[in-house]
Amino acid sequence: MKWTLKLGTFAGIDVYLHTTFFLLIGWIGISYWLQENSVIAALAGVAFILALFASVVLHEYGHALTARKFGVKTRDITLYPIGGVASLERIPEEPKQELWVALAGPLVNVVIAAALFLGLLVTGNLAPLNTMSVTGGTFVERLMVTNLALVGFNLLPAFPMDGGRVLRSLLAMRLDYTQATQIAASVGQGMAFI
Ligand code: ZN
Repeated sequence: MKWTLKLGTFAGIDVYLHTTFFLLIGWIGISYWLQENSVIAALAGVAFILALFASVVLHEYGHALTARKFGVKTRDITLYPIGGVASLERIPEEPKQELWVALAGPLVNVVIAAALFLGLLVTGNLAPLNTMSVTGGTFVERLMVTNLALVGFNLLPAFPMDGGRVLRSLLAMRLDYTQATQIAASVGQGMAFI
């Protein structure tokens, strides 16, 4: 059995969905249904997960298209229940390029959150910021907060998060590459310990 399902090819990059993703969708749908006892709530829960994963796909395209600018191809983008992975053919040679490639993903989520924020603002639907959370508020509010949470989570300075690559590239501007990787990896282990 093949564990991935091809969603399509966009900008010359194949996007795959890991089949365990359907377990996540099913689980979300069922848990909303049991909790709220309504099909609408179940569908809304699933729609939210799909919107969130669309944000994740765009995040991965941020990496992939920035890498392409530096001449690095992306084999594919695969979505897992825990997140997306853009498989770059190699790491860009210049630390500065690696830095931009790593930052481009989270930057996409900043742009999405900013666009949603503006949308809420101009339509007069912006709730007080301190009432927002990942689980509370309207669909758009939650999507905005979740995109910001993705930025924070991805920038943790630990591999395989984008923050780990950001840290390594910054170190590699001053140190040799192996040393930079080692330091970045031990910072990551320290973070994991905490
Ligand atoms: Zn990323």
